[in-house]
Formats: sequence, structure tokens, C-alpha cells
Amino acid sequence: LLSLEGATVRFGGRAVLDAVDLQVAEHETVCVLGPSGSGKSTLLRAVAGLQPLDAGRISLAGRDQADVPAHRRGVGLMFQDHQLFPQRDVGGNVAFGLRMHGASRGAQADRVRELLELVGLPGARGRAVATLSGGEQQRVALARALAPSPRLLMLDEPLGQLDRSLRERLVVELRELFGRLGTTVLAVTHDQGEAFALADRVVVMRDGRIAQSGTPLEVWRRPADAFVARFLGFEN
Ligand code: ATP
Ligand code: MG
Repeated sequence: LLSLEGATVRFGGRAVLDAVDLQVAEHETVCVLGPSGSGKSTLLRAVAGLQPLDAGRISLAGRDQADVPAHRRGVGLMFQDHQLFPQRDVGGNVAFGLRMHGASRGAQADRVRELLELVGLPGARGRAVATLSGGEQQRVALARALAPSPRLLMLDEPLGQLDRSLRERLVVELRELFGRLGTTVLAVTHDQGEAFALADRVVVMRDGRIAQSGTPLEVWRRPADAFVARFLGFEN
């Protein structure tokens, strides 16, 4: 579904994405791991069309995306800092993408209810965004990203602000949901446990490059190099 070839983004002469090759197959869940500043968010922003490439190409379903604007790519992106619309209530935030896709009012209301239940916020529909905790806002952002059923769903630290028990519950539920819907997912996380639980394939980034790509088991059993091993917490 998604293919990056030599994707490169430079800031001030430094390659933050450095000739990245990456393929994501239909229905696959790929989790990107890596230290802070390794280029994970930049990768997602480039695929979403929010960050132009300095070199290389990105294609979706076989089509080069160079001239395709962000809103026509059919991808959903949940940002690291979630960026909810503060002037809309919870329901308005979740329904945002549905309205853009021309769903009827009744269908929107049903979908909003279903999604809020899924993220563990039934009844929050009419709440003002400002009255929610950070973790609750994150869950609303997740519901908003899921709402239009994008062909590629990209999540940047989707569970970052949640407490451990909620994360663990949501990881299981998300995995089940993605499987049921056949969603293709590219997710960034700091949390190895989360990546290994959610992913069909794990990609470890270092300084804008892919240090290793493999199934969780492959990466766990045979880290590609000392960097990956150290990143996974092995002593040597
Ligand atoms: P984190 O885990 O902290 O979110 P990350 O892997 O998502 O990190 P990116 O946000 O992709 O990292 O940033 C990679 C590098 O690019 C960082 O050093 C960052 O400072 C730099 N960078 C990102 N966006 C810009 C920009 N618009 N201008 C200049 N530098 C940028
Ligand atoms: Mg980031």
C-alpha cells in the first residue's frame, strides 16, 4: 500500500530522514521505534503530505504522492501533541473527518458514539475539550483519527499520556479493531512493549535511517547491531 524510496528530508543541511526505504503492505501494522530526534514524526508527516521531501519518493497504492495534497491522500494522522480543536466539543472533534467525507448527520452521530465507547469515553460527547485531562484528550484524538476509516492510519505516540493499565487495555483493543477493520497502520511509539504487542513488523530508526526492520520476534531475537540491542535494553 505504502512505499518510500530514498525518502530524504533535510533541515539546515542535516538529513533528518536519510534515504529511507520502507514498504507497508495492505492490512499490515508497522510500529516505528527509535530515540528522540531520530526522525519518526518527520517520517509520518512526510507520508501525510505535511512535510515535502528533498529527495526520493512516496507512493500510496502505486501512485506517486509528490503532487497529491495532504487532504487528498486518504491517510489519517494522529499527532503526537494531538491538536484537538479547542472551540469544538468532543463530539465535534470526532465528527470532523466524517463531515469532510459527507456522512449524514445520523450516521455521524452513531459513529461518534461507537468511537467514543471504543476509546473508553462514553458520554463525553458534549464535553468541552478544555475540561478533559491530557489522556482523555489523547483518546479523543485517537477517535478522531479513526473516524473516517482512512486507508492508512498513522499514529504518533497514540498512547503516550495514558497510564499503564489503560495503555495495555487499548493496545489489545486496537489490535483487535485493526484486524477486524483490515486497517493498515503505521504507528510511532517510544514504548517497546507497545510496539511488540501491536505490530506485525517493527522498524527501528536511528539518525534518520532505518537501523532494522523485522517481525517483533526477529528484532527481539537478532538485533541487527549494537545500537538496536542497546535500544532494546540488552546489555551487550
Ligand atoms: P521524538 O521521539 O522526540 O518525537 P522524533 O523521532 O519524532 O523525536 P522528529 O520530530 O522527526 O523526531 O525530528 C527529527 C529531527 O529533526 C530533530 O532533531 C528535530 O529537531 C528536527 N526537526 C524536525 N522538524 C524540524 C523543522 N521544522 N525545522 C528544523 N528541524 C526540525
Ligand atoms: Mg516525534
